[in-house]
Amino acid sequence: MAYKWAICPRCNEENFKKLKEMTKAVKAAYGKVSLVEFNKLSKEAEDFKDQLKLLNGVDERFTTLHEVHEQGIHDDEYCVSYRGSCKVCNFKFEYTYSQKV
Ligand SMILES: [Zn+2]
Repeated sequence: MAYKWAICPRCNEENFKKLKEMTKAVKAAYGKVSLVEFNKLSKEAEDFKDQLKLLNGVDERFTTLHEVHEQGIHDDEYCVSYRGSCKVCNFKFEYTYSQKV
């Protein structure tokens, strides 16, 4: 039995969508809000971008998907199973395969 943490594909997609929106908001705010407010928005977007970079490097602090891998022979059947669930968005997946040996 092996456990591993990975990036949840659903969260990853959401994060990139969010970054796009934040970047758009920064551009839209230029010249329309105070400099303090603009700097705040642009720093937030930068920080979020850095966080995503860490995510892509599979930094354990930001991984959300908990995967369980099992394989073995039970009752003359070779079984492989993967299960995973995300602690953030509840994304779940399951894969099982078995074959008589
Ligand atoms: Zn997720």
